[in-house]
Amino acid sequence: MNGGTMMILDGKALSAQRVAQLAAEVEDFVADGAAPPHLAAVLIGDDGASKTYVEHKVRKCAAAGFRSTLIERGADTTQEELLEIVEGLNADPMLDGFIVQLPLPAHLDAASVIEAIDPRKDVDGFHPENMGRLALGLDGFVPATPSGIVQMLAHYGIETCGKHAVVIGRSDIVGTPMALLLSRNNAMGNCTVTLCHSRTVNLADEVRRADIVVAAVGRPGTVTADMLKPGATVIDVGITPVEDATAKRGYRLKGDVDFEGAKAVAGAMTPVPGGVGPMTIIGLLENTLKAAKRRT
Ligand code: NAP
Repeated sequence: MNGGTMMILDGKALSAQRVAQLAAEVEDFVADGAAPPHLAAVLIGDDGASKTYVEHKVRKCAAAGFRSTLIERGADTTQEELLEIVEGLNADPMLDGFIVQLPLPAHLDAASVIEAIDPRKDVDGFHPENMGRLALGLDGFVPATPSGIVQMLAHYGIETCGKHAVVIGRSDIVGTPMALLLSRNNAMGNCTVTLCHSRTVNLADEVRRADIVVAAVGRPGTVTADMLKPGATVIDVGITPVEDATAKRGYRLKGDVDFEGAKAVAGAMTPVPGGVGPMTIIGLLENTLKAAKRRT
């Protein structure tokens, strides 16, 4: 138990602060004669959640003084057409970075699309070159969600050095880069990291040893209060829409963690929504500004 002292890690408030700081940085950048950072997003198909995420990213670009371009194509877009769009964006001198919103429709091969992105414009940090740089501790673009999470840990003064972190989920975009970041030899790393996935034999036992838990599964109820070490920091990346007739849109977003149960045990925890999601956008904007500052 935590004695009723659980700290909420408020990603929404921190993100608003960071957007204001980024806007001030962009103002200075532009005052020095440079064009504002320019991010493009490619959205293929009509997945409602993807559309919402992309629109949100575009809105935050405007709030931070960035330029943004949204490229929308139908679900029947072919692999060749998508690769052509990527080539065009790679070659566009007016563009600092771009993302291809995932997931793509099933007939498209995301891995080869990501590999076709110029690593210097890969502000999602998903290209093998940027993932390799992360693994080697070299400068590059760090995927936005893990980057937003370590910023949140730093802001709230959560010590990572020497702590045991358990990351649940090993996706290329969240779990794997998260585990790499936390294990790195730097100020926001130096954790001893355990990376869990669907084949982990006893998840509860692994999680119970964690000072920091990062749940990135996409399955509500994956982490319950009985699995937590008292005082643990719990980062909930999961976003699952769950039907709820009392909600305005008819559904609510749920994380992977049983928030209500866990709040009596955890020392600090992110809410869903309003935790990791808003910080993810900050990671993306920071990468885009970094790309703009590298213009030759
Ligand atoms: P993903 O690619 O589907 O990966 C899910 C991971 O969870 C896989 O590694 C899988 O293991 C593991 N897993 C599944 N069932 C498990 C179980 N019972 N026990 C332990 N591990 C289990 O998902 P993702 O793209 O990383 O996203 C995860 C969640 O985060 C989703 O809800 C997504 O919407 C959300 N998300 C949120 C943000 C944000 O900004 N807040 C950003 C990205 C994603 P295997 O590898 O063995 O299959």
